[in-house]
Amino acid sequence: MPRIAYVNGRYLPAPDALVSIEDRGYQFADGVYEVCEVRGGAIIDERRHIERLRRSLDELRIPLPVAQAALAVIMRETIRRNRVRNGIVYVQMTRGVARRDFAFPPPGTLPSIVVTARSLDLSGSEKKARHGIAVVTVPESRWARPDIKSISLLPNVLAKQAARDRGAGEAWFVDREGRVTEGASSNAWIVTRDGRVVTRPADNGILRGITRTVLIGVIKAQNLLFEERPFTVEEAYSAREAFVTAASQIVMPVVRIDDRPIGDGLPGPVAKALRESFHGHAEWS
Ligand code: PLP
Repeated sequence: MPRIAYVNGRYLPAPDALVSIEDRGYQFADGVYEVCEVRGGAIIDERRHIERLRRSLDELRIPLPVAQAALAVIMRETIRRNRVRNGIVYVQMTRGVARRDFAFPPPGTLPSIVVTARSLDLSGSEKKARHGIAVVTVPESRWARPDIKSISLLPNVLAKQAARDRGAGEAWFVDREGRVTEGASSNAWIVTRDGRVVTRPADNGILRGITRTVLIGVIKAQNLLFEERPFTVEEAYSAREAFVTAASQIVMPVVRIDDRPIGDGLPGPVAKALRESFHGHAEWS
């Protein structure tokens, strides 16, 4: 079965799903994206993801090119045509196609939309979570607005490759003060020796992860001690547990950072429990 992508009004087999060389996404990475988890055929936390998409678009002054209700239909149709039960749906919007010029294109230029969906292996992800992943730290090298979910991801690409080169699954960016900002494609968390769950505040320096937002609700509902504050790499090295969150991974335990075992070097009970509770608190639609 060929993969089907939605591109500017049409559902096309992947090999024919093309955008113009003058698309500003291609030319300037002038666009934004979202990734939602699909589980049991439902979209997880769609409302929050679409809210964040609208915010990213607003920040870049790109108009939403379709009505929100139409976008919801397109996402579902793309999921259906690709027969995805468990996986992800990806939405990308760019400032559209125009002659190459750094400043915004002429008024009336239609933003481009691409929607794709693909299956992920749930049991593979569970297996990964049972073992946990390794993380490497890299200097923060991104622009000043990672809170915008921009498709401009070159530092994230290089960070992820640095992780892969060192046999790790994720890279954590570290700011000039030695504090962890977030992962290349996830938010970063630790559990301190005295059992406090800590993650950095969602200012302009990180993406306000939807999984992060929902998980804060889970943590509060379970009466765990929670601190929203920056933490250093040193603090992470000596943490009892560490984990990352993202729509495609939910809660993924971290068992090594820069080759140092975290806690006893196995996935911790807090990360495991939060992973198990997550979907009971998320919105399904
Ligand atoms: N931070 C970055 C840089 C990301 O790319 C992502 C997800 O892709 C996240 C955090 C987690 O966000 P969410 O939980 O909404 O998937």
